[in-house]
Amino acid sequence: MVQLSGITPSGHAQLGNHLGAVRRWAADGGPEDLYFVSDLHAMTTQHNPARLRSLATEQLAVLVASGISPERVFVQSDIARDLGALTWVLECTCAYGEAARMIQFKEKSARGEADGKPGGQAGVRLSLLTYPVLMAADILLQGADEVPVGEDQRQHVELARTLAKRFNATYGEVFTVPTAVLPLTGARVKDFADPTRKMSKSAHDSAGVVFVLDEPDQVRRKIRRARTDGGSVPAYSPETRPGIANLLEVLAACTGGDPAALADEYPSYGVLKDAVADAVIEELRPIREGTKALLGDVAELERVRKAGAARAADRGAHRVSAALRLIGAG
Ligand code: ATP
Ligand code: MG
Repeated sequence: MVQLSGITPSGHAQLGNHLGAVRRWAADGGPEDLYFVSDLHAMTTQHNPARLRSLATEQLAVLVASGISPERVFVQSDIARDLGALTWVLECTCAYGEAARMIQFKEKSARGEADGKPGGQAGVRLSLLTYPVLMAADILLQGADEVPVGEDQRQHVELARTLAKRFNATYGEVFTVPTAVLPLTGARVKDFADPTRKMSKSAHDSAGVVFVLDEPDQVRRKIRRARTDGGSVPAYSPETRPGIANLLEVLAACTGGDPAALADEYPSYGVLKDAVADAVIEELRPIREGTKALLGDVAELERVRKAGAARAADRGAHRVSAALRLIGAG
């Protein structure tokens, strides 16, 4: 059984990525599972090439430093040629209407995410329309059986499923038909400055975002400034006091306690915030240190990256060749 999960380097890895996903991948992922840094998916809207390259490398190092076996990790663009060829085959297996009705495309294109240019939908990058087909190629190339995704990505996995079945039925059996499954999830972390929003690596305002690589004093500063709600004595009430609830949930996720029970242990917001800062700093310390060490060891990082790319390419090569051959190429 192979599960495939991707993380897009749309910004620096943040505490929510760690507590909500990566930590679970490292601890509970299956021995065959694959993880990749989906840098090609970060190009569907306006992006900065140099920043993207550096974020992708950093994200790879964070995954490895978080304890995911280097054997199970790769960077998407390192196998761009195979993915590009397979995407083309799958685009020739997909109807325009199937891509155009993807809810995410409709929402994002309607929002005029046209790189800030006028022109509405017509100004949106074509890749915003076709990226679910690249995602299908990610999945089908690796022969993944299961794709753990949130609600917003289910429709895309469904498309990958449809395209795999259609290709197999029309041209010949090549692809494993994937299934969307519920992801292993940990805590849902909210933005410390605005606890009504989820913490996110691509947030425009990062005042309330703790990044995995933040130095301890930055972490402490951001947590000390966390927005709290009325009152002064901690109590766990996510609906009415989301700021304090978020702090208690983060503390619980880092220390293994229960948020409601933890509330009773702290006499004031200040004491609670110090405890949260201590716990987050300790939780992130080995990852920050491991990532820095890896980023500083260019030869080792290059070795890990090349080995991951070679394994991912080897897994998929026969599928690309077979699919091209069956559809009439070569
Ligand atoms: P973006 O802003 O680009 O959407 P993100 O920070 O939301 O970035 P994703 O790449 O969308 O991160 O998600 C990577 C993984 O991290 C997913 O499994 C997602 O569920 C998880 N994740 C992201 N943010 C949080 C959060 N605040 N709390 C818990 N899990 C999170
Ligand atoms: Mg997200």
